[in-house]
Amino acid sequence: MRFTKLTGVFILLLLLGSMLAGCVQEKIEQVSKVSTAGLKEAEIRQDEMLKHIEELISDKYKGRMVGTEGNRLAEDYIVDNFEKLGLKGPSGIKGYKQYYKQGVILLNQKPLLQILDGTGKVSADFDYVDDFVIRRLSSQTTEVDITAPLFLLESADMLSDEDTDLKGRILLIPAKLSWLAGKPDFPTDLSVKCNASAVICEFDLSNNAQGLKYLRVTPFQESWRQPYYNPFIFTESNTFSKLAEAEKKGMKVRFESQATPLSYVDAANVVGIIPGTDPEFEYSYIIIGAHFDHVGDNMDGTYNAGALDNASGPAAMLEIARVIQENPVAPKRPIAFIGFNGESSGFLGSRHFTGHPLFSLGKAVMINLDMVGASADVKLMLARALVSGKGMNAPMDDLSKYAEELGIDYYTSFTGGSDHVSFADVGVPSVLIIHPDYSNGYHSPHDDMEDISGDRLEEVVRLVLYYIEEHAY
Ligand SMILES: [Zn+2]
Repeated sequence: MRFTKLTGVFILLLLLGSMLAGCVQEKIEQVSKVSTAGLKEAEIRQDEMLKHIEELISDKYKGRMVGTEGNRLAEDYIVDNFEKLGLKGPSGIKGYKQYYKQGVILLNQKPLLQILDGTGKVSADFDYVDDFVIRRLSSQTTEVDITAPLFLLESADMLSDEDTDLKGRILLIPAKLSWLAGKPDFPTDLSVKCNASAVICEFDLSNNAQGLKYLRVTPFQESWRQPYYNPFIFTESNTFSKLAEAEKKGMKVRFESQATPLSYVDAANVVGIIPGTDPEFEYSYIIIGAHFDHVGDNMDGTYNAGALDNASGPAAMLEIARVIQENPVAPKRPIAFIGFNGESSGFLGSRHFTGHPLFSLGKAVMINLDMVGASADVKLMLARALVSGKGMNAPMDDLSKYAEELGIDYYTSFTGGSDHVSFADVGVPSVLIIHPDYSNGYHSPHDDMEDISGDRLEEVVRLVLYYIEEHAY
């Protein structure tokens, strides 16, 4: 009986054992399933991203230029969303904002470019942004008001003539001689050479091959105040022909621009963190960055909304953070999300961050989202900075591999044009993810919702989530 009893218990134990084994089996399967994070298949909410973009381009923010209320509101918008997502503020600062000082010069009114007839009446009035842009401004003063006759340059040797003295005149340079004006981002100061009071150069503002991306509204920068610069203006071809005609008729041109004197203001990067669970990876941050500032108000009732550049980046960044936060498994590596300020003024926010990092950058990598989700038919570009060094290619190479796996049409390149450069400069491997569409209103009032595709935003978010799943879990 006893034996029988024992046998019965034994059989029961065997049964229980196999049931337990079954459970254990199931448990192991579950663990291994959740140990891959599921980010690759996670639901991505296009509507949330589009809402972020719509908000950031609304007229409350007026183009998010450093030194304006709109820029501060954009900082707060990122802060509010980090709070909602439950991101941690980094140690060393209060909340999420890392403040720094930035010099700003802001337009006070719409710049004027006009042709005057013999009696001083306005015979043509050109439109700031669409017809002409200011490349450099007089350094001595931020208030410029010039009325002067023109001098049309017909050949390069007209300038080398020793006797050429254009004092009191505005020099006109046609596109065929635009090489004389230097690179669009580093114009040569011809006004020094020929003593002109301003220079107007013809550029094809609608053609990116000519460097459109450099030619639209750019924040006035401190460096523009170098004493040897007189006003340097770029016009598109129609405007230039009218100016050339005016020169033939001996008409004068008026150029006026009023801006605030240089002042130093508080600007902030916004930094939020998802801590890693594995102490071994304590300093191996994955940084997802996106600038939220833009080039502001044209003071003529229009502002440069910056939908693609770069309300799209923060929108994608917030969606990436949301997916990771709502995922049941936490990452092993810490992930930092940084909304950078002052990018449009020369990466000033990211330069401040890498100069004053809030956590160790020793083992970090940085992924920069700048202009993502373009509706235009441009391939995705993955680009590293020009700085070379050990491991500097890694994030670009990894993302390339995942882009291939995901069937994303992409190409790789090198570019210096955004915040990833600040990281590369301090030895942090970094990569820019960008849909480089400059054709439809870059740095102008025309960069709006039409430039954005929800599907392509999702594609970029998926790619970054893929990277994070592979590297942080
Ligand atoms: Zn940008």
